[in-house]
Amino acid sequence: MKILAIGRNYVAHIQELNNEIPDEPVIFLKPDTAILRNNEAFYLPSFSQDIHHEVELVLRVCKEGKNIAVEFAHKYFDAIGLGIDFTARDLQTKAKEKGLPWEIAKAFNGSAPISNHFIAVNEFADLKNINFHLEINGEIKQKGNTGLVLFDFNQIIHHLSKYFTLKTGDLIFTGTPAGVGAVKIGDRLKGFIEQKEMFDFEVK
Ligand code: ZN
Repeated sequence: MKILAIGRNYVAHIQELNNEIPDEPVIFLKPDTAILRNNEAFYLPSFSQDIHHEVELVLRVCKEGKNIAVEFAHKYFDAIGLGIDFTARDLQTKAKEKGLPWEIAKAFNGSAPISNHFIAVNEFADLKNINFHLEINGEIKQKGNTGLVLFDFNQIIHHLSKYFTLKTGDLIFTGTPAGVGAVKIGDRLKGFIEQKEMFDFEVK
């Protein structure tokens, strides 16, 4: 399986990092070695002094396809979970300055904690109005609503599938809302979709 991810989707987050509003979503990938499950602890890596949390809704792909049209895209994912796209912001900033790729900043070991539980798509009344948030040590740090994106789920599927064949079991990180920031040892991260707790793990 693979993890596909979208950068620069929530406008307020684009602005907080002083990035340009893109015409197309920015795409990157994470390997399966990035995944943390079962609320496993995240160990701060030694190569970065600035690991940021980015809470994101995660789509589960349920059907193989490529070059998927927007109007059929909804058939290709069946459930939504929650994850953190951990980002070594210092390494990413250097990479951006030099025009280099982002892998060491985005795809390192443990950079993708993902909820065990995924909520079936048909349990949501409106995919364009899903609330999610991240709490650290009991304080809300990031809040998102899918009404605030540049590219909705169907557009993301359409765009990604131009370049990458989607396969059953692939996961798609759909972008983070504003409020990203550094994590430190001892932090406890809890993620919610609506009022449902999706994950709860510690930074070590
Ligand atoms: Zn992200």
